[in-house]
Amino acid sequence: MWSYRLNRRRSGKPNKVARRIATGIAGVGSPGLACDRRQAISAAIAGMGLLIGLRFSLTGSAMAEAPTGTAASGDGRPREIGSGVFVHRGQLGVYTPGNGGDICNTGFVIGADAVAVIDTGGTAAVGRALRDHIRSLTDRPIRYVINTHMHPDHVLGNAAFKADNPAFVGHGKLGAALTARAERYLAFNMQAVGAEAFEGTEIIVPTVAVASSQSIELGGRRLTLTARPTAHTDNDLTIHDSATDILFTGDLIFSGHVPTLDGSIRGWLALLDTLAGQSVKQIVPGHGPAAMPWPDAARPVQRYLGAVAGGVRAAIREGRTMSDAIATVAREEQDQWELFDEFHGRNISAAFAELEWE
Ligand SMILES: [Zn+2]
Repeated sequence: MWSYRLNRRRSGKPNKVARRIATGIAGVGSPGLACDRRQAISAAIAGMGLLIGLRFSLTGSAMAEAPTGTAASGDGRPREIGSGVFVHRGQLGVYTPGNGGDICNTGFVIGADAVAVIDTGGTAAVGRALRDHIRSLTDRPIRYVINTHMHPDHVLGNAAFKADNPAFVGHGKLGAALTARAERYLAFNMQAVGAEAFEGTEIIVPTVAVASSQSIELGGRRLTLTARPTAHTDNDLTIHDSATDILFTGDLIFSGHVPTLDGSIRGWLALLDTLAGQSVKQIVPGHGPAAMPWPDAARPVQRYLGAVAGGVRAAIREGRTMSDAIATVAREEQDQWELFDEFHGRNISAAFAELEWE
């Protein structure tokens, strides 16, 4: 077991992360930050030859003066959307002290023999609240903690389940993706939510990597995990429950919250085309209602991504700049989504960078 910690130095001088937080520039699009450490991590991984058990942690001790956060709040207890399938709906928003990082959907599936958790929320505290809900319903062992993809609001609650000693399961590319962003995710989100609310939060990379498809038996029901080609991210994993015909899509589907692009817009549109042709009873989106009908839930996302791709392609064809594209493309979508101003410009930038090389 190899653990990675960023504590305050004995001299009392804040370390690099704490200094960046203090100056308010933590993790803002700075690929060069802490590259020494990342290289060290990569070298260690290469030396180990495997990702199993690799953990990163950041204690709250270096951030005594950060704003005080609140405990994980959310909108109450998880809802049972199908027999033994529970979903907790996160709040709409980005990480703030007010929401405690409880901003995405999390869930769990209870089988006759074991429990599988699907995403764990944005801090260890959010994960602990989810675990408390599970324990109020069943004492069956929590054998699997599955992450739908790399984004911090979905994975940073993993540490709450360490004592259960589960298999941590993700897409084959999840471990490398999390490793590359570990320090930035921890520093940036601790700053956003406050050190107290972030206490105990770690990045835990998968101990089981799904290369294409894998089944998990929970007793009387089977989960089928499918690693998807690059779409929302390069490590999207879907989870289908055989007993209820419910599909957890992660952030392949957003509702309310505008979709965010961190993978490939062409890949995402192609994947949604494929998935929309498949029949499932309900889906659980990464953000939005606990359960949604399928393929209806895909339509607004397809419409938005289609408008972005079409508009960006036209802008490129006409020789317009990226900043002009950001100001003009798919503005008709603005009233259809929440958090549009926070993410739409970045989506256009990402699509522009991808599509100008078509
Ligand atoms: Zn995401």
